[in-house]
Amino acid sequence: MEPGGVEVTDLDAGEGGIGSALAGDEPSPPPPSGARGATPAASAVGLTKVYGKGNTRVIALDHVDVAFGAGRLTAIMGPSGSGKSTLLHCMAGLDTVTAGEVRIGDTLISELSDRELTLMRRKRLGFIFQSFNLVPTLTARENIELPLLLGGNRPDQSWEHEVVDTLALDERLTHRPDELSGGQQQRVAVARALVSRPDIIFADEPTGNLDSRSGDEVLGFLRRAVDEWHQTVVMVTHDARAASFADIVIFLRDGHIVDRIESPTADLVLDRIRALEV
Ligand code: ADP
Ligand code: MG
Repeated sequence: MEPGGVEVTDLDAGEGGIGSALAGDEPSPPPPSGARGATPAASAVGLTKVYGKGNTRVIALDHVDVAFGAGRLTAIMGPSGSGKSTLLHCMAGLDTVTAGEVRIGDTLISELSDRELTLMRRKRLGFIFQSFNLVPTLTARENIELPLLLGGNRPDQSWEHEVVDTLALDERLTHRPDELSGGQQQRVAVARALVSRPDIIFADEPTGNLDSRSGDEVLGFLRRAVDEWHQTVVMVTHDARAASFADIVIFLRDGHIVDRIESPTADLVLDRIRALEV
């Protein structure tokens, strides 16, 4: 890896920095939370996360500076244990940080009370997990609407219909998760994440439990959500094909961002992975 790759960690970096990547030249309708390229959908400065103490101490993230552009699909890659999930969890307020600042839009999440953080997660964030995390006793429709109902909001029926229709779930709405295939379950989870029109969707290995065809379907829907609905998505993956659906790929190693690629292809991503792991 070239030393220049580290530039990605500098928010104010000129050429090649994430800051410049956020400038976004393409004309595009604004995403739900403001103009594309203005305030990042989420950002961190000096984000450090240390687990454990003494000889079990692990620095999972080491002074990470990163910004996730609004209306973009960003993939986070890196070897197992490099800090991908920790980064996602800290960005989403699912885990506390040891040091540094994390913002969702302009909101500094460390300043929120537990209750405010819960409300913010419900109203402004969406989550997609590798293991789907649907409630087994609820139907697909109930699962999709659950976060809205918990947040005290009624589903916008026409929007919900559009999401369900796009994800081809119309015929499955009365089914419970154990009556659905893995691909269908993950599509329900994608619908659940989209239906509240969150500022940002965080996905941790969303295709990790799917065959390649179902995985491609899910990735295709995430891509459409970004292209057609200006959704912002941040997705952890270890699959170069999955990363090739993204606008930007950032690479983590040992808790540092060590590289990034714009407009990735699977081959480009594979080359970069090989270069980083040697
Ligand atoms: P990745 O998602 O890239 O595989 P993680 O973010 O899960 O990596 O983990 C980064 C590092 O932090 C690893 O060394 C991992 O063992 C450690 N780690 C993650 N979660 C915990 C935890 N809850 N307690 C202790 N160590 C953890
Ligand atoms: Mg992980």
